[in-house]
Amino acid sequence: MTTLRSGSATHVGQVRSNNQDSFLVLADADLYGVADGMGGHAGGEIASAMAVELLEAHAGEPSLENLMEAARLGNRAIFEKAGGDPELHGMGTTLCAVRVVPGADGEGDEIAWINVGDSRVYLFRDDRLIQLSRDHSLVEDLVRDGQLTEEEAAVHPKRNIITRALGIDVDVNVDGSTVIPFNGDRFVLCSDGLFGDVSEDQISSVLRRLADPGEAADELVRLANDAGGRDNITVVIVEVVDDDGRSLKAAEALAAAEASRLASQDDEEPTQPVEDDDPFAGRRSSLPESDDDYATDKDDPFADIDRAASRRLTWRVVAFLLAVLAVGAAVVGATVFSARGTYFVGFEGDQVAIYKGKPGGVLWIDPQLDRTTAVTRDDLPEDQSLLVEQKPQFTSRRSATRFVMFLQQQALDHRAAESTSTTEVTTTTTEATTTTSAPATTTTAPPTTTTGP
Ligand code: MG
Repeated sequence: MTTLRSGSATHVGQVRSNNQDSFLVLADADLYGVADGMGGHAGGEIASAMAVELLEAHAGEPSLENLMEAARLGNRAIFEKAGGDPELHGMGTTLCAVRVVPGADGEGDEIAWINVGDSRVYLFRDDRLIQLSRDHSLVEDLVRDGQLTEEEAAVHPKRNIITRALGIDVDVNVDGSTVIPFNGDRFVLCSDGLFGDVSEDQISSVLRRLADPGEAADELVRLANDAGGRDNITVVIVEVVDDDGRSLKAAEALAAAEASRLASQDDEEPTQPVEDDDPFAGRRSSLPESDDDYATDKDDPFADIDRAASRRLTWRVVAFLLAVLAVGAAVVGATVFSARGTYFVGFEGDQVAIYKGKPGGVLWIDPQLDRTTAVTRDDLPEDQSLLVEQKPQFTSRRSATRFVMFLQQQALDHRAAESTSTTEVTTTTTEATTTTSAPATTTTAPPTTTTGP
């Protein structure tokens, strides 16, 4: 069983009058979440609180799909509440979460994560901070499109505009995936109040310096406040303290295999000992220099001790190198596993297509064309075409197919709109969140609009 420990902190910041962030720490269910509300004075607070409460209520049995479904159910409830109360109209919230779930291979647990909006899920592993989630924000789209640099995006006046949130439309697309956990991994969930004011280098530095997750969360909030605290700040840190022996098992298996292979083929004298680790190194250096350490046995009274020591040391070094190799192999294995389980949508020539793998490939695994669709580049409105250019990723073929269905509907709407000679194209944030339930309502639109102009 995977064992976690966590710490969390939230603060209103230095500018806002109330804290519209909410977070969830449910150690018994290994479930953690952060939500950042928006819309009116009360709306944001209510929306984010609902998001985490409904996440807990609907989480069900631990699985990625249930986690995504809980977010979708939360979305529906917030959307309905906002629609039923004029004071709450337009409220919405981001939501990101992580949970321990049974691994797909039946061997050990995985960590599932989900995201909607611009709160973030980071993984701090091997001294590196990796953003697992993708921001659903205007500036992120512009960065992906090459119209903004990361540096420009960080200070862009419209960096708060998000393109996906819970509560804005009747349905919502939820991003999500799983990660194979290793001891020492730290998952950082945070609202934009943290990374808006604190650089990723600073976040890494705090994670490196402070072992206790609670202290690290407090320190990150303090840094954001010191840097201006322009928004509410929320941080949840979840650390893997026991990966159920996964790292160890992988290392042992590989080390044993490597050791027996080496033993069977390599019966020669050990190679040079490593000086740093050699307690006889200092004394040996005082002996006369020789081209060959073992050619002067007769003259060297310490030769036997040296040989025994160097053999022991060499095997210790080999064992250490094997362990390093094993951990490397485990990381590569996890990367390959994730690469093979991913789908993305892009253009094959001018046709929208589904690919298996990661855009650009991972290690030696190139993405493979899964299937092409009847939708072409020209069929799509410009913003949707740009979206496909960005090669959005999905955790299953079904999710990718659902996205393609959404594009097909967009193409139909686009064609209908063009045939009514409407030249004005309005892009709203709700468009991006419309999913398969949209066709029923939107396909009825063209007949009425054709009678207009
Ligand atoms: Mg915020």
